[in-house]
Amino acid sequence: LGAEISTILADPALVVLGSATDELIAESLSSGLPDRGVAVEFGSFVGDGDGLVTIYRAATESSVATLELLDASSRIVLEAAAELRAAADRDAELSYLLAVALLLATLAAVVLASRFVVRPLRHLQRSVDALQTGELEEITLPVTGPIEAKAAALALQDAAEHFSHVTRQARALAAGDLDAEVLDHEVTGGLGGALQTAVGRLRSALAQQEEFRQRLAHEASHDGLTQIPNRNASMAQLQRSLARTQRSGSHLAVLFIDLDRFKDVNDHHGHQAGDSVLREVAHRLLSNVREGDHVGRLGGDEFMVVAEPVDGLDDAVELAERLMDALAVPIDASGIELIVGASIGIALADDTHLSGDELLRDADLAVYRAKQVGRNEIGICDEELRNQLAERADLSTAIRRAVDFDEFVVHYQPIVSSADGRVQEVEALVRWMRPGSDRPQPPSAFIDFAERSAMIIDIDRWVIDAVAAQLAQWQQGDIHRGIPVAINVSGRHLAHERFVDHVLEPLRRHGVDPGLVIVELTESALLDDLSSAGTKLRRLRDAGVRISIDDFGTGFTSLSHLRALPVDILKIDRSFTATAAVDPHEASIVKLIIETGHLLGASITAEGIETEHELQRLTMLGSDSLQGYYFDMPRPPESLAAPDTWTREPASTFATTTN
Ligand code: C2E
Ligand code: CA
Ligand code: CA
Repeated sequence: LGAEISTILADPALVVLGSATDELIAESLSSGLPDRGVAVEFGSFVGDGDGLVTIYRAATESSVATLELLDASSRIVLEAAAELRAAADRDAELSYLLAVALLLATLAAVVLASRFVVRPLRHLQRSVDALQTGELEEITLPVTGPIEAKAAALALQDAAEHFSHVTRQARALAAGDLDAEVLDHEVTGGLGGALQTAVGRLRSALAQQEEFRQRLAHEASHDGLTQIPNRNASMAQLQRSLARTQRSGSHLAVLFIDLDRFKDVNDHHGHQAGDSVLREVAHRLLSNVREGDHVGRLGGDEFMVVAEPVDGLDDAVELAERLMDALAVPIDASGIELIVGASIGIALADDTHLSGDELLRDADLAVYRAKQVGRNEIGICDEELRNQLAERADLSTAIRRAVDFDEFVVHYQPIVSSADGRVQEVEALVRWMRPGSDRPQPPSAFIDFAERSAMIIDIDRWVIDAVAAQLAQWQQGDIHRGIPVAINVSGRHLAHERFVDHVLEPLRRHGVDPGLVIVELTESALLDDLSSAGTKLRRLRDAGVRISIDDFGTGFTSLSHLRALPVDILKIDRSFTATAAVDPHEASIVKLIIETGHLLGASITAEGIETEHELQRLTMLGSDSLQGYYFDMPRPPESLAAPDTWTREPASTFATTTN
């Protein structure tokens, strides 16, 4: 269309027409344009008017052509448009169809996905949840699903297996079961490796802890030197054995083994030799008891064997003999052959034994009796021994009662001067008015026994108090005023830290001059701890109390010891008095003792003077004072005669002749 218009417009005639028209229009504009009627009239002109007519015709033709052209063009355009629309409509329909198809396809995919992906994924999710909550049994493989989901599930199951394995390992560890089989199977993978390391560390830490605990327990229950169970562990073992035999009705024996010459080994060969002996003894005991018997060390050189079961006493004695034979063989302690030997006490458990302590005490008693018989002896705790024991238990209760209920009385025995026969002092001697007995009990019935425990201290204190009260009373009257009293105190009491107070306090309380009191101690009591005894005695001496050494000559006190002690009086034991009176050799010994005592500044008292002859002999040998039945018995204070009437023949003549 454009091209046709261009061709038309390029027509030379049209160009001429165009320019002519332009000129005409320009002229017309300057002269006024003819109206349409004129123009129509132009059509009828020719000549001058021809040109114009031609122009108009041409113009009209041209416009008609143009209109036709436009008409044709618009038709073409319309047709093309209609064609285009139809094409568009077709396209639209196709798109719609495509969209629907797409939608359907998507729907199908979703359904498929839900079947093959979502379900397995949900399954996986549940498995993960189960894994988190530890319900490992819940973890299973999905049956269907994409390969990825299956792979994930497999991995999950694998993890779950690891996890459950690790859980089992952890449980085993928590239970301390280090030998659990599960701990031996290593878990693979990074986590597995880390866990295995942790398991390994825990295992060794727990093992170390356990070992440490066992070592501590061993050390607490075993004797460090011999490595056999110590006293505590042995007593616990005995108690268990006792309970067991009581249930089963079988018999049980306790053997108390006390080495005979162990102290000698230590003293003469040193502690190292002593240690070797103890180790060897433990070894020999262990290798000579029967299977199931218990060997323990009670301490020092004391061992114990719990024999369970035994058929009876014969069985236990046989075992004791075997052990004794084994211990009688010389022991080699670093090249030195030592013969130690042992005494063994046997106690057979019966219904009366309620505790291991009681049983061991009986065995101890039996060995004590064996030792009294001699070395290498077997002692048996039988009925007789048990009765003795029961009596002792009764005695101990009775003595405690006696102290509490003032069942004691003090008798007094005069000590006279060998120079003029006058009473110099009296000795206080305790008696026990035991309920049920018609006579006062002598000290021999209870003092020795009391001296084995702290009971003696209570008795001593009771006597000191009674004497202080008596002294206070005597000072009120005329007859016994100014007479000093000698009080016996035991070595155990001397060792007591408050000994000095125990003597001085009652005197203060009763207002008694300490110068009226003499304390009598035996030699052996002083020897136990010479230095502390010396200190205490000096304190008493400083307070005015005099010190007397009793039973002198029996305790092998070296006279040099005496120099370290503040001694006022030495009492020659009664055993010397009798023999010195008849045996010249003994007499010379007594004379020597008396002279040395004098050199040390002590006054000498001879005990146990029963006859005139003894009185004269001892006076002749140099005794300053004399005590004995010859003068008077110990008597209760109310029967004490006036001092002047006590004396017999004064021995002054002998005293002067010897000087
Ligand atoms: P001891 O200190 O040597 O007491 C002297 C003992 O010899 C007393 O015996 C006394 O009665 C006795 N006796 C006195 N003269 C003669 C005599 O001529 N011939 C014979 N054969 N014996 C004579 P007793 O009273 O039985 O005292 C025995 C021991 O008991 C005392 O020996 C003393 O060691 C201890 N004792 C007595 N009373 C007490 C006390 O209150 N406390 C303490 N700890 N021991 C005491
Ligand atoms: Ca005495
Ligand atoms: Ca004596």
